[in-house]
Parts: sequence; C-alpha cells; structure tokens
Amino acid sequence: QTIDIANPVRTQAILNEYGLHAKKKFGQNFLTDLNILHNIVKVAEITADDYVIEIGPGIGALTEQLAKVAKKVLAFEIDSQMVDVLSDTLQPYDNVKVIESDVLKVDLAKVIREEFGEEAHIKIVANLPYYITTPILMQLLRANLNWDNIVVMMQREVADRLNSQVGTKTYGALTLTVQYFAKATLAIKVPASAFNPSPNVDSAVVKLTPLEPEVIVDNIGKFFSVIKASFAHRRKSLWNNMIQTYGKDQVVKDKIKMALQTAEIDPSIRAERLDLKQFTQLYLALREQHL
Ligand code: SAM
Repeated sequence: QTIDIANPVRTQAILNEYGLHAKKKFGQNFLTDLNILHNIVKVAEITADDYVIEIGPGIGALTEQLAKVAKKVLAFEIDSQMVDVLSDTLQPYDNVKVIESDVLKVDLAKVIREEFGEEAHIKIVANLPYYITTPILMQLLRANLNWDNIVVMMQREVADRLNSQVGTKTYGALTLTVQYFAKATLAIKVPASAFNPSPNVDSAVVKLTPLEPEVIVDNIGKFFSVIKASFAHRRKSLWNNMIQTYGKDQVVKDKIKMALQTAEIDPSIRAERLDLKQFTQLYLALREQHL
C-alpha cells in the first residue's frame, strides 16, 4: 500500500527523484495536506458519476484524490516535466487523462465534448496557478460550459474580491463578472504551511455555483468591456472613465450623456457604487446609442 501523493515527505521525495523544484513562473505550490484535499473533494460534492476537469495537476496530489471518487478526471498541465511525473504517480488510476497544454489556449467546450460527450455535466476543481487566477476564471465562466460547480484554490485577496459588496474596496470588475454567472462562497481557509513551497500569501478555496443571470446580456464580451472601462481608473468618476474609453468628441459625449440618463445613473459617481443590475442597464443604454 503506497501512501498518498499529498504528504510532505512523499512530495519532496518525488521532486528529488526527478531532480525538480517548484517553478515560480508556473505558480507551482504543491499541496501536501491530505485533510485539505479531502475537504476540497467534499466541498465539490464529487461522486462516482462525475466528470471532473482539473487545471494544473502538478505532481498529482489533488488529481489522485479526485480519481479515487470521480468517474473520470481530465487535467490540463502546462509543464512537460510535470506531465512526465504524472505518468508515474497517477499510473494506478485508469480514469485520469492528462493533457499537456496551456489551459488558457484550450477550447475547453470542444475538448470536453470530445472526451466526455455532448451532454456531460462537469465539475471543475483546481489548485490554481495564482499568477493567472483571473484569466482562468474568466475563461471558465465565459466558455458556456455545463458546470455544476467550480471549486478552486486561490489567493485569499482574490477570493475576497469574488464575493465583496458594492462600494467596498475589493468590489470591482472581477466581482461583477463572477456575480453575473455564479454565487461565490468562501469554503475553506488554507494556511501557507499546507503547500510545498509555502506561498507568501494566504489562500482560500472558493466554491462557485451557477446562477441564471437575471438579465441576459446578448453580447457578453461587450458587456464586460463596459464594466472594465468603468473601472479603468478606480478613483475617477464613471464619466471620466467612459470618455476615456469611448472618445472625447462632442457627438460621443452626447451619446454617453444620453445613455447615462436612460440608465438613471449619475455621471459623477464611481463605478464601485454600481451594482450588477445598474451595469446591465448601462450596457443596454449604451447599445441603444450604438456605443
Ligand atoms: N494541483 C497541484 C497541487 O495541488 O499540488 C499543483 C497546483 S500548482 C498551484 C499550479 C499548477 O498549474 C502547476 O502544476 C503549474 O505547472 C500548472 N500551470 C501553470 N500555468 C498553467 C497553464 N497556463 N495551463 C495549465 N497548467 C498550468
């Protein structure tokens, strides 16, 4: 009986065996705390019927725990040296497939269709590489996947931004994007000591559950650019951020003015004062002005 990968001694032994050390440029911090991994699997409510997507399996600590309970696990890893390690460490599990790729460049919907079939619902579980947490979340949410939940480890500071309230310092474009698709809850607080090497920041596992958007936006890309433009400079007024983005000539200014009037939004306020519903109204009003 071999011991789990998620163990401080075994993790270090695996790294030594392959002459590897954690790569900063890939955000490698390996989880060595089995309790936390069990907890993650529990929060994600993984059952024997589940198709699971993992991002960044590393040496396989989380993958192994997922493979023990899920139907199938599909994992995306950018680092070819990790992929080599995984072919050994995950050898006992025949329900895991590792794809060597940059997850940000993968057409997830297509791969999932190919691997799991047209109708499959998925769960997404990951200890994310922190340097690309936001782009990965954006990609997952915007890819229109059939997901039941997303359970991901990230920096505490980012986790706080996901479920912050209007008007607070942590409220911003990321909060709104996530809120459009999902309800976010902070599920587990994780100390730096749970990893090898320990990151310099606190971590947390966030659980996202899907929400039917209250107002369906017809062009989601454009909607998020309105949000992004509004938060371009946090300390500037909405008006200033808008003219910065859309242009300063009089015709454009008049259109922005009209749109703000239609949406009943005061041009002098800051974006952090607007909730999701107001942003959808602003988006619709700007569209009416062909902006
Ligand atoms: N899942 C492992 C664990 O919990 O111990 C490792 C997690 S580590 C924080 C992040 C992993 O993501 C690393 O294995 C890293 O090589 C991988 N990674 C980094 N950037 C990636 C990318 N763009 N696409 C796929 N994997 C990536």
